[in-house]
Amino acid sequence: MKAIVFYQHGGPEVLQAAELPTPHPGPGEVQVRVHACAMNHLDLWVRRGIPSLRLEMPHIPGSDVAGVVTEVGPEVSGVQVGDRVVVNATLSCGECEFCLRGEDNRCRRGAILGEHVRGGYAEYVVVPARNVLKLPEGFPYEEAAAASLVFLTAWHMLITRGGLRPGEDVLIVGAGGGVNTAALQIAKLAGARVVVVASNPEKAERVRALGADHIIDRSQEPDWSRAVWQWTGKRGVDVVVDNVGQATWMKSIRCLRPGGRLLVVGATSGPNPEDFDIRYVFSRQISILGSTMGTRDDFRTVMGLVFAGRLRPVIDRVLPFTEEGVREGHRLLEGGAVFGKIVFRMDEGR
Ligand code: ZN
Repeated sequence: MKAIVFYQHGGPEVLQAAELPTPHPGPGEVQVRVHACAMNHLDLWVRRGIPSLRLEMPHIPGSDVAGVVTEVGPEVSGVQVGDRVVVNATLSCGECEFCLRGEDNRCRRGAILGEHVRGGYAEYVVVPARNVLKLPEGFPYEEAAAASLVFLTAWHMLITRGGLRPGEDVLIVGAGGGVNTAALQIAKLAGARVVVVASNPEKAERVRALGADHIIDRSQEPDWSRAVWQWTGKRGVDVVVDNVGQATWMKSIRCLRPGGRLLVVGATSGPNPEDFDIRYVFSRQISILGSTMGTRDDFRTVMGLVFAGRLRPVIDRVLPFTEEGVREGHRLLEGGAVFGKIVFRMDEGR
């Protein structure tokens, strides 16, 4: 099968087209012919190399897959050849203490498709049958792939971990990322009031269209932390979503009300905030809640809302699934001038 792989870590140029053996499903697994695969920041980290992550080379990145079931392994029920599906990238053992509790994103032997194991930049991918969810008739593959990882991540972070309630004030730091555009919509759907910090007027406009109640353009208002503080009448927000990390961490903490929650699923600017003052954490009784991916229950719930049109994935652009198309996607996401998701579309007409 055709795949886009890398043999060594590095820049976008290490991504290359390759011919690899087509994988076939074992017990409990299905083979999916990939029609669309969306990009995540995770793809960039994996390509550059994560110190603790040892990969079987060549590695196939890609966590966000939608396509058609083309082969079903033994001991699979409820999934059939020809089913149009979206894949939940959270792989779990189904047997450990956490899986049995329904906390499968904490699985002791857990993995993420495309990060720890070969993923979706390929014609075919094999996944556990319990990781696929059927698409409604006519639901586009691009939208399903674009929604999958970020809506799961944002839902688990805000609702399951963060316990967001109607009427709460939420600050989202950064406007253009896939998780943030998902988080904004979920927070609005949950009845929260949402303020977003955007990096430029263009992104500010896009965020307004998605329903943000208040937008701070940091190109005009560099001291955005103070602006948030003023917006809340010097009370502070209930919840901050900060996946920027190092560059914004302390400013985000200063925006919280006493007893507020800081939610974190990533750190795109780096992991080590030098100005982190622990005294804020205890004196303001702040909770820092880390979150990764989501449970199967979260996946079913949030994708149901996507299928119903209550939540809509934001797609920046669709690129062809070619060596050049994939490299271009990586360059664009790395450059930061992206609003929403980049999706790779496999051959037309399939
Ligand atoms: Zn497990």
